[in-house]
Amino acid sequence: MSIRLTILGKSPSWQDRDGACSGYLLELAGLSLLIDCGSGVFAKLRSHHDYARIDAVIVSHLHADHTLDLVPYAYALTVGPPLRADRPLLYAPPGARDAWRRLCSAWGSETLIEDAFELREYDPDGELELNGVRVRFQPVPHYVPAYALELRCSGEDGRLVFSSDCGPNEELVEFARGAELLLIEATRLDQPLRDDEDPNEPPGHLTAADAGAIGRRSGVGRLVLTHFSDQLDPDQIRAQAQAAFGRPVELAREGERYEI
Ligand SMILES: [Zn+2]
Ligand SMILES: [Zn+2]
Repeated sequence: MSIRLTILGKSPSWQDRDGACSGYLLELAGLSLLIDCGSGVFAKLRSHHDYARIDAVIVSHLHADHTLDLVPYAYALTVGPPLRADRPLLYAPPGARDAWRRLCSAWGSETLIEDAFELREYDPDGELELNGVRVRFQPVPHYVPAYALELRCSGEDGRLVFSSDCGPNEELVEFARGAELLLIEATRLDQPLRDDEDPNEPPGHLTAADAGAIGRRSGVGRLVLTHFSDQLDPDQIRAQAQAAFGRPVELAREGERYEI
């Protein structure tokens, strides 16, 4: 086993009953990484890991459901019990520092996030090397700049790819090709457009069938759907994804662990 994934939150932009928005704990090469930190994730993280011992947080995009619990996390690190001397790394898309300053200035704490974390805006064309863990980025189409993530241990084959939030795209098919596990969003209902939706606008999210098709075409080992509401019928989502994937598909459940 080289990568352990724990689902902390798999809700879409509003939480499931007792759930959390996007948040995934990854343990690999002796590091503990938090991927995204949406609403409700900080409390879930505390059930599974010491928040002060997270080595780095990596944010896939700046939507609220992927970032808002950085606020309580930052308060825990700055005004909570002193637990570590250095600050966890926080890798975020370009523009994050300004965006979080604007957000936190609403209550007069402009530098809250960068006071708590060692904030670094990543270069989406570059690659991160974190003590034996390599992270790559792939821009994907969404309503704001968003990046799929690939994580693997240096010198090992096992790869985990997370789609971030995205509409249908070819880039993710190539980026995920041959990955052991693809954690992929499946937010959009397979139904006619609402009156306020523009048929000429490309969708910013995937249906379960879209997710299954991307998984099949990229030849991934395991396909795990996430970012769907508990108000939907899980059997229907799974059936739609499996019909397109051609093999069994797993639905992310909070607290569930996957080992690669
Ligand atoms: Zn989202
Ligand atoms: Zn989003």
